[in-house]
Amino acid sequence: MDTMMDLSARGGQAEQALEKVETELRRLEKLLSRTRSGSAIWEVNQANGQACLVGEEVCGLLKEARHYHDLSGGAFDPTLAAVSDAWGFTKERQRVPSPRELTALLAQSGMDQVQIQEGGILQLEPGVQLDLGGIAKGYAADRAAAIFRRCRVTSGTLSLGGNLWVCGEKEPGVPWRVGIQDPWRVGEMDGYVGTLDLSDAFAVTSGGYQRFFEENGKRYHHILDPKTGMPAESGLLSVTIVSTESGTLCDALSTALFVLGEEQALDLWRELEGAFQAVLVTEDGRVLVTAGLESVFQEAEGSGYQYEMVS
Ligand code: AMP
Ligand code: MG
Repeated sequence: MDTMMDLSARGGQAEQALEKVETELRRLEKLLSRTRSGSAIWEVNQANGQACLVGEEVCGLLKEARHYHDLSGGAFDPTLAAVSDAWGFTKERQRVPSPRELTALLAQSGMDQVQIQEGGILQLEPGVQLDLGGIAKGYAADRAAAIFRRCRVTSGTLSLGGNLWVCGEKEPGVPWRVGIQDPWRVGEMDGYVGTLDLSDAFAVTSGGYQRFFEENGKRYHHILDPKTGMPAESGLLSVTIVSTESGTLCDALSTALFVLGEEQALDLWRELEGAFQAVLVTEDGRVLVTAGLESVFQEAEGSGYQYEMVS
């Protein structure tokens, strides 16, 4: 999945759980990676308009992706592979595509060009290509959580490229403390805007600082606005989504809310009434924390940010 993974487990059959999770993550990589030849996603991306047997699991994940696409008014869009390639985000060399190029590529994207059929079959319109990079790691976190549960692990963590899951508590009575990255202080000690005290929860961050390149003094990051094909400029530097239920939800919505921007992001939070909580870091130096996190969020002292509780 082109990222680091970090796992820990204690209690129950912890060692077995760690092995099983590693095996499972490698299986998912072989299934969902679009750059790995022979994966189900690679196959369907090569199929050039033909129906392709990808299996029920991939179709199930695509259905979830469609759900978050529709919920977010299209801000989450898993069909931007070709657009992302034009920027070179999966390649060694990055570049800024021309507006004409982007318009042409956007014509070959969109969930209306994806057919999910019975029997684990997917059919894409010719030229359309899938990229599950915005949801696959969250799904992987869900699978890992299920394995931990089955192995009766009592305490543990999984970190997978900005996707975090914490199992149980750090110690009895002490929750896990999760830092939220300060987008301007990546790699610095204590470079956080704040922390969350969590147990049995997923926390997923999407941020423009996670992958980007610079050209002529301007930054171009990897989260694209499906309307323009350009890196989303919504006034947000990062979005962290927290849920006790679903890593898939956290992953898809952190990407979607980043594209939507503050106002629409908070509208969606209100609309979904407690399905998730969020921390937004804005370009103008504010940290917005939704009401459900009030008792578990701590501000980082002296961070220079202004903190607002949202209800
Ligand atoms: P994340 O780190 O989960 O926010 O996902 C970002 C990754 O998802 C990118 O590297 C792309 O592979 C893909 N992506 C980019 N823009 C979008 C979007 N608007 N909707 C869904 N996936 C996207
Ligand atoms: Mg995501």
